[in-house]
This record gives sequence, structure tokens and C-alpha cells, in this order.
Amino acid sequence: MERLTLPPGGAAAVDEYLEYRRTVGEDDGGKLFTPEEYEEYKKKVLPMRLQNRLFVSWRSPTGIDCKLVGPETPCFCTHRYKQHKTDFETIPQQRPIDLPCQVTGCRCKAYHYVPHNGTQPIRCTCKHFADQHNAALGFICNACFKCSGFRSCFTCGCGQPAYAHDTVVETLQDRLAQGKPVGQDVPYAAMGGLTGFSSLAEGYMRLDDSGVGAPSGEVLDSPVSAMDHPFLKALQMPSTSPQTLTDGNEVGPSTQISSLRRPDEDDMAYFERRYQERIKMEKAAAKKKGKAVVPPGTKPS
Ligand SMILES: [Zn+2]
Ligand SMILES: [Zn+2]
Ligand SMILES: [Zn+2]
Ligand SMILES: [Zn+2]
Ligand SMILES: [Zn+2]
Repeated sequence: MERLTLPPGGAAAVDEYLEYRRTVGEDDGGKLFTPEEYEEYKKKVLPMRLQNRLFVSWRSPTGIDCKLVGPETPCFCTHRYKQHKTDFETIPQQRPIDLPCQVTGCRCKAYHYVPHNGTQPIRCTCKHFADQHNAALGFICNACFKCSGFRSCFTCGCGQPAYAHDTVVETLQDRLAQGKPVGQDVPYAAMGGLTGFSSLAEGYMRLDDSGVGAPSGEVLDSPVSAMDHPFLKALQMPSTSPQTLTDGNEVGPSTQISSLRRPDEDDMAYFERRYQERIKMEKAAAKKKGKAVVPPGTKPS
């Protein structure tokens, strides 16, 4: 494995760069801002970004956000979400809100998500891939004449065909009104629909079509009950074993520990001890059994 070593202070510089990149996105046009320009940029952009954030998702006809679009999510035009216009000084009045691509020469007028089948691009019913269609002109096919617009029968994880889904751009108010997650205010560029770690999973895997998020602290802090997962119960259970591991000479009822060979024992001593233990346990078991058949009212000896 190759090891990456950094000079003193190097890690901090990398963090600083990543923070810069997340915040500025593509807005520096590929040329790093000077510290002054960066400060100026943050002063100008962050307030409007926090105020006017837009959430982008790909929604099934049943209302599940099957895909939450993030900065790196590709558009139908093959460019990523972060390469589209995502910051607005004032939120446009018209609906739907279109997020045009900002790559020079690209004529995509509105961000449009197109799913993949695993790592494979999906095909239109005309047999051609999405990128053979025209993102600017009604998604018609550039490779054939029989296609009247990209339409894929690929079935999403939610069970609905891809063509029945819509790319949806929403404001904070739109989201809240529907009980959809909005996450916390983040200063980063082109966050789209990402509101938390689970945003990266497909909608049907989040299994929470409301997506309102994690249960309240009250629920999480409540004591573990018999209804809970065995793993939780095991964690909660105080150790009831009377045995201590520190005392090597103690022979407990559990054979788990005594079956371990002691360091100063030879073979014969070990087998002898195990034999004696077994006899003792059998005797104890027989005694218990005897006790159980003692008629009620008799004092146990
Ligand atoms: Zn696009
Ligand atoms: Zn584009
Ligand atoms: Zn075609
Ligand atoms: Zn087509
Ligand atoms: Zn779906």
C-alpha cells in the first residue's frame, strides 16, 4: 500500500482546500481565489445560499424521493449538478424552477436527472443511450428518427418505471410543507437534495418516504425493553456471572473458563481436573433433581 506523507501543517492545508472547494464549487472558474477574493465571495454568496437553497430530487409517482441529487450527480446533459446554476439572489417565481447548465457550449436549460442501472447507463425505448439524445431539444434522439423523446422502461428500486419519475426542484418552504427533510444550513455549493448521510441511499432503502429523519432524543434515550433488538438487549444486560477472571484458582459453574488449560498444568492434571469438575456438576444436578421431587411442605435440607 502506498503511503501519503504530508509535511507539518499539510493536513490542515488539505482540509482548508477541501473546505474552499466545497464552498466555492465551480464559481472560481478553475482559478483559485486570493484570500481577499475568497472572503469577498463568502460575504456575498453565503447569505443568499443559506436563504435561497434549492432542493433537488428525483421523485416517483408515489412521492418517494428515489434519488437526492448532490453536487456530483450527473445531469441528462452529462454535466454534474454543481456545473448548473444553483445559487439565486432571489428565488425565481416561475414553476418549475429551471437550473440551466453553465458549461460553455452546453445548451441544457434545466437540470434533469437520469438514473443508471448499477454502473450501466440506461437505454431509451429507441435503443439509444441518454447521452445520444438532445438535452436542449425535448430529449429527442440524435441517432435515429423514430424517437420522439427519451423514455426508458428501466425499473427503479421503488418498482416504478424511470419515465414515471420527475426531477423536482423545491424551496425550503416547499419541502417543509410536505414534511420532507431539509437538513441543517450548510454553506457548501450545489448541495441539491442532500440533507444528511442517509441521503446517499436510494429512496426505497431509506424506507421512510416522509424522510423526516431520525427519531427524537426521547425515543433514542428510552430504556431498552423486551421488544428491542437482541443486540441492544445484550449491550444493556449487566454481567450476572459470579465468576472473576482475576482469580485463576476459582472453579466456577461455567465450563467455559475452566476448560481453558492453566499455564502450570500438565496433560494429566488437566484431564483430572476436568473429570473432577464433571463429577461435581453431575452430583449437583442429581441433588437439584432430588430437591425438585421433595413434596411441598417438607423443609429442604
Ligand atoms: Zn444539464
Ligand atoms: Zn450541461
Ligand atoms: Zn434513438
Ligand atoms: Zn430515444
Ligand atoms: Zn423510484
